Amino acid sequence: MTIPQARSTCIDLHCHSRASDGKLSPRELVQRAGERGVTHLALTDHDTIDGLAEAGEAAAGTGVELITGIELSCVWKSHTIHVVGLDFDAGSPALIRVIAEQNENRWRRARTIAERLTRLKAPDLLDQAIKFADGDVPGRPHFAQALVAAGVVKDLNQAFKRHLGAGKPGDVKAFWPELGTVVDWVRNAGGLTVLAHPRKYKLTATRLRSLVDDFRRCGGNALEVVTSGQSSGDLGFLAELCRREGMLASQGSDFHFPGAPWCELGVIPAMPEGLTPIWQHFRTPVTTQVQSTA
Ligand code: AMP
Ligand code: ZN
Ligand code: FE
Ligand code: FE
Repeated sequence: MTIPQARSTCIDLHCHSRASDGKLSPRELVQRAGERGVTHLALTDHDTIDGLAEAGEAAAGTGVELITGIELSCVWKSHTIHVVGLDFDAGSPALIRVIAEQNENRWRRARTIAERLTRLKAPDLLDQAIKFADGDVPGRPHFAQALVAAGVVKDLNQAFKRHLGAGKPGDVKAFWPELGTVVDWVRNAGGLTVLAHPRKYKLTATRLRSLVDDFRRCGGNALEVVTSGQSSGDLGFLAELCRREGMLASQGSDFHFPGAPWCELGVIPAMPEGLTPIWQHFRTPVTTQVQSTA
């Protein structure tokens, strides 16, 4: 008879590295996750899996188990929506091809953002944003940094509020695929999809339900019920929505950089009772309960 061991799990299925708009390299990210007791981590960079190989190497031999991840941008009824893909085959040729297209879309979008913001007279805005992205395709946070550096706005918050956030000129969605398209990409690569941070889209409750309905109908699997910096009211609302819609539940910090006290790897509230965690449906399910082996 073996004595059952209490396996203490800490699961974070949403975070970013320098491969997109995070500050840490994939290696540093995995190290930090390990130091903070994360046992299962998905690196979910925006529209790229470029960081996964380095993260995988860094995770080998540590206590951190890496789950393949990506955060895909798409549109639903003129809203920019983020879908987290998890536990897919990162070697899938079809997936690699559509991610390359998505990268092209990001470049086209970056050029359009720069054109739309020319009236701000920030010199060489696109080049500056590319510099903040380490020469890679710049995302909105890199444009925000460039606007701060040019003195157009006082901080990143103001950059989003005035120029880059939802409904502002820099919120360019023209190049994103439809919601159902990105769900298909992940599903065809054997993975599961999560509607990321559902409260961040500023949708009314009715409209959010409609989004979740459409997401489920096109094959979406889970809602990101637990995330950082979310009120307990929002957590309760999402847990109820998740139960009623019969979706799986996911959780993740959406960590981007160290030093933000409201957002740290692995630091999120407990998953509410009565939900089915998405990790029970991974190809290698994560067990969070002590199994009796007697
Ligand atoms: P992108 O993929 O280029 O559209 O950038 C998305 C990222 O921008 C998110 O992951 C956040 O890090 C950041 N972001 C989006 N909206 C805001 C906001 N209102 N304030 C600050 N950061 C934001
Ligand atoms: Zn981001
Ligand atoms: Fe997101
Ligand atoms: Fe994210």
